[in-house]
Amino acid sequence: MIVILKQNPNAVQLDSLIAWLEEKHISVQKSVGTSHTILGLVGDTAAIDADLIAALDIVEDVKRVQEPYKHANRKFHPDPTVISVGDTQIGGGTLTLMAGPCSVESEEQIVTIAKQLKESGATILRGGAFKPRTSPYSFQGLGAEGLELLKIARAETGLPIVTEIMNIDQLPLFADVDIIQVGARNMQNFDLLKALGKQDKPVMIKRGMCATYEEWLMSAEYVMAGGNHQVILCERGIRTYETYTRNTLDLAAIPVMRRLTHLPIVIDPSHATGKAWLVPQLAPAAVAAGADGLILEVHNDPEHAVCDGPQSIRPEVFATLSEKLHSLHGFLAAHPMQ
Ligand code: PEP
Ligand code: MN
Repeated sequence: MIVILKQNPNAVQLDSLIAWLEEKHISVQKSVGTSHTILGLVGDTAAIDADLIAALDIVEDVKRVQEPYKHANRKFHPDPTVISVGDTQIGGGTLTLMAGPCSVESEEQIVTIAKQLKESGATILRGGAFKPRTSPYSFQGLGAEGLELLKIARAETGLPIVTEIMNIDQLPLFADVDIIQVGARNMQNFDLLKALGKQDKPVMIKRGMCATYEEWLMSAEYVMAGGNHQVILCERGIRTYETYTRNTLDLAAIPVMRRLTHLPIVIDPSHATGKAWLVPQLAPAAVAAGADGLILEVHNDPEHAVCDGPQSIRPEVFATLSEKLHSLHGFLAAHPMQ
C-alpha cells in the first residue's frame, strides 16, 4: 500500500500516523520526492483500512500495490535511486562505465588494465576474484588474494571496485569492496541476498539466465527488505534457443525496469554475447535505450586471458567506445527519445 501525502504535511500528524502503522507491525518507508512525499507500507496491509487513512487531513491518496515487490517498486519511490560510490554516482541520468577483466590474474595485469581504463573514462573497476565456473577443472579465481590485488589497483587509480561474492562465508572478506556483485547463478541464493541486506555496501544483482523480470525484482526485494536499499540491477543476457551468441541480450529490460522500479540498471554486453566484436555494437544500443551504465570485460591480452578472453575487448577499443558512449549519452540528454 502507498500513502501519498499532501504537500507540507503537519509533522505531528505524520509522526502519529507512522507510529500507528508501526504499532500494527507495518514497516513504513518514507520517500521524499520532487513533488510529493510518499509512505510505502510493507507488511500485512490487508488488515489496514485504506479509507480511514485516506480521510486524514495530511493524506492526498491511498493506493494498494498489487506487485509482490514493494521496496523496489517505482510506486514506492517515484524518483530514481542514485547510488554514490566514491566520486561516482550511479543512476539518475548519469552514465557509469564499469570495466575490467573477467578475472584478476596478477598484480601486474590488474594494475596495468586499471590504469588504462582510468585514463579512458571508466569510473568503476571490475574483476572477479571468486569465479563461478561451469567446470570444476577451470580456473576458479585467485580468491582472497584476488581481492587484495583489486584493492592495490584501486589505491593506484582511485577507481572503486565491483567484484562477485559467491557465498555468505565470504562476506567478511568483502567489507572493503565498493560494490558487491551477485552473479547470475546466485540471483536466487536467498540466504546470500538476506545477508547482503544486512550490510551497507551497494549490491549489484545480475539477472539469472532464466529469470523473469518479477523474479529479478524479488531478488532485489530480498536485499532491500533487510534494510539495504542500495541495489543495482544488471542485465547480462538470458538463455534462449539462439546459440550463435552466448546468451541473448534483452534490451527491453531497460525501459521495463525503468517503469517498474526506481533502481539503476546496468547492461553487460560481454556476458550477453560472448563475442568481443559485438560489444561495441550493443553498448551504444543499451545507452540509447536508457541504461544507467555498462559493465564491460576488458583485457590487455585477451588471447591469453584465463577466463572469458573471447568476449573481452582491448583497452584501446574501450577507450574509443567510452568516448562515443559519453557523446551519445550527452546527445540523448539534450534530445530525449521519450
Ligand atoms: C562475471 O561478471 O564475471 C560473471 C560471472 O557474470 P554472470 O554472473 O553474469 O555470468
Ligand atoms: Mn566473465
